[in-house]
Amino acid sequence: MKRILTIVGARPQFVKAAAVSRSLKQHGIEEILVHTGQHYDANMSEVFFEEMEIPKPAYNLDIHGLNHGAMTGRMLEGIENILLKEQPEALMVFGDTNSTLAGALAASKLHIHVIHVEAGLRSFNRQMPEEINRILTDRISDILFCPTDTAVQNLDNEGFRNFAVQVVQSGDVMLDAALFYAKKAALKSTIIENLGLKEFVLATIHRQENTDDVQKLRQLIEGLNEINRKTPVVLPLHPRTRAILQQNGIELQCRVIDPVGYFDMIRLLQHCQMVVTDSGGVQKEAFFFGKHCITLREQTEWTELVTCGFNTLVGTDKALLMAAFEKAKMNQPDFSINLYGNGHASDIIADTISKA
Ligand code: UDP
Repeated sequence: MKRILTIVGARPQFVKAAAVSRSLKQHGIEEILVHTGQHYDANMSEVFFEEMEIPKPAYNLDIHGLNHGAMTGRMLEGIENILLKEQPEALMVFGDTNSTLAGALAASKLHIHVIHVEAGLRSFNRQMPEEINRILTDRISDILFCPTDTAVQNLDNEGFRNFAVQVVQSGDVMLDAALFYAKKAALKSTIIENLGLKEFVLATIHRQENTDDVQKLRQLIEGLNEINRKTPVVLPLHPRTRAILQQNGIELQCRVIDPVGYFDMIRLLQHCQMVVTDSGGVQKEAFFFGKHCITLREQTEWTELVTCGFNTLVGTDKALLMAAFEKAKMNQPDFSINLYGNGHASDIIADTISKA
């Protein structure tokens, strides 16, 4: 294949696209980039395109701030129109957002091949909108690039061996991005110096299952406030979480900052003592940069991190959070194990696409 259309829309997809787009270009594959508009604030979108030198999207659908059905439906319609006009050989989607599902559905109905990067992940929790998006996108994809052995196994368990699709264990494109941009971050980011940070815990919260239940959110924030009394917590706060905290008068006693660009995020990850998060991507990045992660969820798609002792799942339980925090301070695991490939997942993906 020589001409594909790629859908991005949310922050983690910009990071993944940055790595894959570079490899596609090196393999002589033309890429038409479509931004659905799901994330649109400058510090949630533009900064990634600039810093990471992601090609400018050919289309921006500007769809955001809607309920899941309306958002996915409008994206489906918008992407279908673009596909009809551009007639690419395939459509590529990343991860598990509404943009992912809308893109896959629009293409498969038009008999355009669907390529899913970050296929096969499962949390086995259907309360998460992301889980629905993953399951459905995988099922209508033609080439499925899995980041881990567990992801390949999940597809096997669901019978994908019986389908006329290609399943490839490519490794994780987020590792490619972390390795490539760490060098640039070291030169460009001054966040540690600007904020005068020494010992600190890096935290992020944005998952809908945590933010939409005010009781849960309150407990989580109480936990973070308590950690902050022992070690300062730096929290680049997602705009949706910020709005919900304000609406409900929940007070954060941490060092709250606006969402940061990827270079600043890399340096925060490199310099922190540990990570507390409900993000999917940040759990892995903690591992890439040799930091223990405490995950504010009951399950994770990145099960190998838990099995190997790099990640502790605590849900929203404050006592479990504090126990994990104390334990992680004492624990120095060996992070040298290879769980996510060798930083060349994007090359494997581009090479496979060019031969398809
Ligand atoms: N990220 C960032 N700045 C921030 C918070 C996160 O650059 O203030 C990056 C993070 O390093 C990772 C990606 O955004 O590469 C993860 O996105 P997010 O947590 O929004 O989504 P998830 O991975 O949970 O789907």
